[in-house]
Amino acid sequence: MYGKASHFLVSVLSQDVPFSLIGQFGFKSGRDTDKFNGINYLLSKDGIPYLVDNTLAYMGARVINEIDALTHTVFIGEVTEAELLKEGTPMTYAYYQQVKKGSVSRNAPTYIKSQAPEAAATEKAGKFVCSVCGYIYDPEMGDPDNGVPAGTPFEKLPSGWGCPVCGAAKSEFKEV
Ligand code: FE
Repeated sequence: MYGKASHFLVSVLSQDVPFSLIGQFGFKSGRDTDKFNGINYLLSKDGIPYLVDNTLAYMGARVINEIDALTHTVFIGEVTEAELLKEGTPMTYAYYQQVKKGSVSRNAPTYIKSQAPEAAATEKAGKFVCSVCGYIYDPEMGDPDNGVPAGTPFEKLPSGWGCPVCGAAKSEFKEV
């Protein structure tokens, strides 16, 4: 959604999307941040901003109904525009969880409180889990999106390094 608008737009992300983009749109609220700050975007025919980078396609819709589902509001939309931006493999939720080792935002309907620690229990030592979003730092993989090469131990991360998903400080991480 964009402000108190009658339209919304859905972006199909590619598998190479960086954690920072997922964090900006998935772990922050539009109530206290401008989610499009620093993001490369264009306006659709209906005047709705859509992501340009790491995006394969978008669908714009006009809100025709909204349903109060207690913790969330479900918006029903009629698709009014759509555009294919480039070819690629779309990132599914399963890929995000299994390969990119992401987690579910605390505000998401699918969030389960024990999810992060349970997933963590099966991981090898030397990994660190973000206590805010559940992202796991794996030294074998590093954090290439933010210039941290594979093989960098958690202790050697620069002091200014933060969680690539939600932005939490190093001090918010606990050893797995
Ligand atoms: Fe995090």
